[in-house]
Amino acid sequence: MSAKTAIIIGAGIGGLTTAHALRRIGWHVTVCEQAPAIAAVGAGVGIAPNAVKALDYLGLGPALRDRGRRQTGLEIRLRSGGRVGHIPADEIERRYGAPFYALHRAELHRLLMAGLDADALRTDHRAEKIAPGPGAATVTLRTSDGTVSETADLVVVADGVGSRLRAALLPGYPGPTYAGYTVWRGIVPAERAEPMGVPTVLSETWGRGARFGSATINDGQIYWFACESVPEHATPEHDLGLLAARFRGWHDPIPGLFSATPEDTLLRHDVYYLRARLPGFVHGRVALLGDAAHAVTPDIGQGACLAIEDAVTLAAAIEERGVDAGLCAYDKLRRPRTERMARTSGRLGRIMQTRNPAAALLRDTVASALPTSLLVSSAGTALSWTPPLGARS
Ligand SMILES: Cc1cc2nc3c(=O)[nH]c(=O)nc-3n(C[C@H](O)[C@H](O)[C@H](O)COP(=O)(O)OP(=O)(O)OC[C@H]3O[C@@H](n4cnc5c(N)ncnc54)[C@H](O)[C@@H]3O)c2cc1C
Repeated sequence: MSAKTAIIIGAGIGGLTTAHALRRIGWHVTVCEQAPAIAAVGAGVGIAPNAVKALDYLGLGPALRDRGRRQTGLEIRLRSGGRVGHIPADEIERRYGAPFYALHRAELHRLLMAGLDADALRTDHRAEKIAPGPGAATVTLRTSDGTVSETADLVVVADGVGSRLRAALLPGYPGPTYAGYTVWRGIVPAERAEPMGVPTVLSETWGRGARFGSATINDGQIYWFACESVPEHATPEHDLGLLAARFRGWHDPIPGLFSATPEDTLLRHDVYYLRARLPGFVHGRVALLGDAAHAVTPDIGQGACLAIEDAVTLAAAIEERGVDAGLCAYDKLRRPRTERMARTSGRLGRIMQTRNPAAALLRDTVASALPTSLLVSSAGTALSWTPPLGARS
């Protein structure tokens, strides 16, 4: 019997992990990406214990441990430097079975692409239309040479929060919601990071209407992000000097991280998520996955992790039950969890980014009073996830 076929739209973390997961159950996969090449774009990404367990399940755990940087803990601080909370990694690992890792996105892409056949990835292929038939689905793609139509047993739509195919499948869906803030990201190269002696913790610092976070990632580089509450469609400056001025007076090493960052690593994005529920993640032989299905805000550090969970769940469900029953199970297993996380992330974002002095004080006071055990268990919904059929690698 010939192998089942899947076309995956989007070579992001969700699409590439799905390629891996389906390949492992014997499917022939093709990933179609609109970009002309897979470039080393993006900044850092945190991989939480739930996604570490998912990558272990796919046999990618050793590569993650080799290339990712294990974090010794998570901390929250105030702009003065005072500590609001700290969770040691051992506590997280004991409770949830894996620690946090952080690495450059380009490194995670490399790791996910390593096991794929060279012809599995087609760049310069932008999906424009989709027809989700009962036993197969057809997607129309535009390339620089023209338009092609491809049919497969399954089409996985992993084209991100602004998904064009989601809009085509669900024309009545309202689309992404603005989270109320913009985020800049940067990378400090290892030779500039090393003398700074920044500890390997996932660190976040809260201010009023502003936040800063950082993590040491692979090869000794430091990844940082800086958020500011701004109206939708505002266009804040794309300039490290001005950004450093906005965060003047924040505790060390924040000012030093700005000045050690090469301007060409600076990125800025407005943050959107899917607040409105989708009627379904599955439409005939089409499955929505990752941000296309359930974009969350970065406030819970789970968007990529959930996409990785989706990929494992989809392939495991299809392997166990066959394509159609597996797709139904995927929808049933993923929708409640991810919808809950999307709503939580939006709420958390509003609290974290509040400009209101009284609300910020209340936030800081309540968080400072929480014992470590409560902080650890509050993360349980996200971190306690395990692969559906137990570890397989
Ligand atoms: C500032 C910030 C920090 C974050 N930090 C974390 C973190 O630490 N941990 C975490 O787990 N998550 C984090 N996230 C969330 C995470 O980045 C996303 O959830 C994740 O990248 C989603 O992956 P995806 O594959 O679903 O979509 P994407 O990464 O958006 O990939 C979609 C891909 O599809 C392609 N595409 C789009 N349209 C088409 C088309 N029509 N045809 C073909 N290809 C198409 C795009 O070019 C892209 O390559 C963060 C997000 C932000 C904004």
